[in-house]
Amino acid sequence: MNYPNLQANDPELYQWLDAEQKRQKDGLEMIPSENYVSPAVLEAMGSILTNKYAEGYPGKRYYGGCVNVDEVENLCKRRALELFGAEGYRVNVQPLSGSPANLAVYFALLNFGDTVMSLPLPLGGHLTHGLPVNLSGKAYKFVFYALDPKTELLDYDAIASLAREHKPKLILSGYTAYSHIIDFKKMHDIAKEAGAISMADTSHITGLIAGGQHPSPFPFTDVVTTTTHKTLRGPRAAMIFSKEEYGDAIDKAVFPGMQGGPHEHAIAGIAAALKEAATPAFKEYAAQIVKNSQALATSLQAEGLRLVAGGSENHLLLLDLTPFRPGLGVFLEKALDAAHITANKNTVPNESSSPFYPSGVRLGTPALTTRGMKEAEMTHIGTLIAKIVKEFSATELPEEKSARPQAVKDFVETLAGNSVVKEVRAEVAGITARFPVPGIA
Ligand SMILES: *Cc1c(COP(=O)(O)O)cnc(C)c1O
Repeated sequence: MNYPNLQANDPELYQWLDAEQKRQKDGLEMIPSENYVSPAVLEAMGSILTNKYAEGYPGKRYYGGCVNVDEVENLCKRRALELFGAEGYRVNVQPLSGSPANLAVYFALLNFGDTVMSLPLPLGGHLTHGLPVNLSGKAYKFVFYALDPKTELLDYDAIASLAREHKPKLILSGYTAYSHIIDFKKMHDIAKEAGAISMADTSHITGLIAGGQHPSPFPFTDVVTTTTHKTLRGPRAAMIFSKEEYGDAIDKAVFPGMQGGPHEHAIAGIAAALKEAATPAFKEYAAQIVKNSQALATSLQAEGLRLVAGGSENHLLLLDLTPFRPGLGVFLEKALDAAHITANKNTVPNESSSPFYPSGVRLGTPALTTRGMKEAEMTHIGTLIAKIVKEFSATELPEEKSARPQAVKDFVETLAGNSVVKEVRAEVAGITARFPVPGIA
């Protein structure tokens, strides 16, 4: 691995980076919010810009020596606005990650206690969309809309009538586990009719939007937040786009409201990722993500497995294991992990188990697509996942809550010696060996 100084001077730390590199290379990374950044983004993130303090904004800093980072930040902002054709918008590229970006928007545009509408976490929302233990849920009054219980899709009429009833100050769209297209225009119109600010948190799908594979929330949505490290394939960071009228309040909320010095190395990483996202190759990449997700969905369904909302129109899908056993998602995550397939347990709509022991598994194709995998690999991987599901489909989550952690531990111990796990792991090794990871030698 190319970290010779760590290797020589800090072997204790180096061993874990080395092990992690091996894990990232040898496994199938199917967490839909993860990706592999390019060597250029890695260089920016590991650059000397990490040495610099730059509190404030370009041209208005509280520190000397900002002449170069001012250029970096301005370049990043220009590329961001250009990529999304966001005319009439301002962009702030300083949020340290997606969660602080969302909190900064609330802090800028709401008073504590104001009403906000969103989809709750168990249905595919995010922690910062009003979860009671999150600062968002403590500081603001969240009213939650639901998915249509039959189609498991957004029900825009129901959202509109809830908005008329509650008159929220802000309405959120954009999710973490929604496998279909979001009609941002409809969400915006619903907000306007109710006198609310429209906010789209496109974290998961920003790369698809940039690549023309998902309808854009521009140029109408009032505020758009996004992480930069998911389908956009940039560094761990975030951006806030806002209509000009909200720009000053949002800039003030990010700094000095919530943060001190911006991470200029991350901002350089965003700039590098934005340049890549503007290329024809990235458009192809985004299109392939969706094709792969659909191929994976078709393969899983052909194996008799149930997908929430019947499939995928974007980069992710949600496997509902309730037909086998409620709570099976927990065990499946562990079993897939043992077979070197990385995914995460997830609640499904109408969850009959619990958030920590949910019945679903969320799968995504952005990282595998970055490695160059296509439909044929997805079809194969679908059969491998189905093999694991079928092998462990009778696993019972104990009714007694206190017995659950031990049951999961005991289950994990059986995995190493399981022949289906071994067989799938060998097939995974065969696939990953053919697809190198960018930035990993
Ligand atoms: C990932 C995500 C976030 C938060 O991002 P972090 O960088 O993990 O704080 C916020 N909203 C949505 C919809 C997300 O998917």
